[in-house]
Amino acid sequence: MDTSEIMTRLRVKYANEKEYLQAVQEVLETIEDVYNRHPEFEEARIIERLVEPDRIFTFKVTWVDDNGDIQTNTGYRVQFNSAIGPYKGGLRFHPSVNLSILKFLGFEQIFKNALTTLPMGGGKGGSDFNPKGKSDAEIMRFCQAFMLELWRNIGPDTDVPAGDVGVGGREIGYLFGMYKKLAREHTGVLTGKGMTWGGSLIRPEATGFGAVYFVQHMLHLQGKDIKGRNVAISGFGNVAWGAATKATQLGAHVIAISGPDGVIYNPEGMNDEKLAYMLELRSSNNDVVAPFAEKFPDAVFYPGKKAWSIKCDIAMPCAYQNELTGEDAAELLANGTWCCAEVSNMGCTPEAIAAFQKARILFAPGKAVNAGGVATSGLEMTQNAMHISWSAEEVDRKLHEIMSNIHKSCVQYGTQPDGYVNYLKGANVAGFMKVATAMLEQGVI
Ligand code: GLU
Repeated sequence: MDTSEIMTRLRVKYANEKEYLQAVQEVLETIEDVYNRHPEFEEARIIERLVEPDRIFTFKVTWVDDNGDIQTNTGYRVQFNSAIGPYKGGLRFHPSVNLSILKFLGFEQIFKNALTTLPMGGGKGGSDFNPKGKSDAEIMRFCQAFMLELWRNIGPDTDVPAGDVGVGGREIGYLFGMYKKLAREHTGVLTGKGMTWGGSLIRPEATGFGAVYFVQHMLHLQGKDIKGRNVAISGFGNVAWGAATKATQLGAHVIAISGPDGVIYNPEGMNDEKLAYMLELRSSNNDVVAPFAEKFPDAVFYPGKKAWSIKCDIAMPCAYQNELTGEDAAELLANGTWCCAEVSNMGCTPEAIAAFQKARILFAPGKAVNAGGVATSGLEMTQNAMHISWSAEEVDRKLHEIMSNIHKSCVQYGTQPDGYVNYLKGANVAGFMKVATAMLEQGVI
């Protein structure tokens, strides 16, 4: 494989899809040497086939807002790769959503899902619908209109969507209700469901909890522990909340959370009341973090600033792609940060990753760190298929085991001759080997 040749071709073909191109480039660069040791992959044109989604659905979503005005949005589902299981991946509702973003997310999802060791392929979907400022009734009508189109293309053994940015338990409820009405079946077609109708305990916490379990493994390998460390987190959604909750439980000080409006500096760390308030802020649909400082006088709000301006030991980006830039990385490094665990998908720009790796600090990519979310979705699918539900302890134990195995795979495939663990390479190679082998065994399809 010649990465630059493949990238040149893709850059011409998908000139406007910069996030997709970024995600593909990152994977190809890190797997190139392993790939080239396997002529059978090259012969089967695995890379050429892997970078193209199996199929993409695009559809119109029309709905009526509270003023009686008709609104039109675009809906998508990218079914990327089903070599190791049904398509699996979240739905994102955000005004920035376009095909490039969903293709990058779907591509990442293939490797992430492979890393979980569960049988799940990769997919992603969503809409440019903006939930900000929408009423509950508007959210419901939008979700119903979205599912009216999507339902024919998904199914419990075909494609199983879940949440992502802008899609949480409430949205999954409305989406599921409509699916059930149309398909006339109550199956595990979506994950992240409510606890009384097929959801799995620990799923709401799983992405953030799993991320902190992963960080603990990284730290333990270095003879360190998260206890007593200062952690900066971006975002205040479900994932940031899970990470902040588990980090606090394990004795870390979560000294920063942030939103699009600025950062909260929280020198005394989190407590139960503050953690509960993070959830309240998220469900207000307002996308601002400033009210946190009004409610808790020991916290300070810095408008327009990012979490990365706060001095910390461990940085955990939990919001969007490319939210931590080369400049942010330089600021963190200058402030002595020695670990960055990406929790958002592709949260760090290539410049930021290069800076962290050059400084030889601990860095792990989203597809490994945040895989606990989709892994627990996989556990939800298993419980649905078996028509049973496991206790919280059982699910948490399995989540622990999965995160530990993902960490082991990263170390196995990513340890450099000088002992430095390149988690990015480790995650990409481990995920790729599994998917490529499955593709090879299934022939040209
Ligand atoms: N959106 C989440 C992710 O990026 C969860 C996907 C799922 O549970 O299917 O992995």
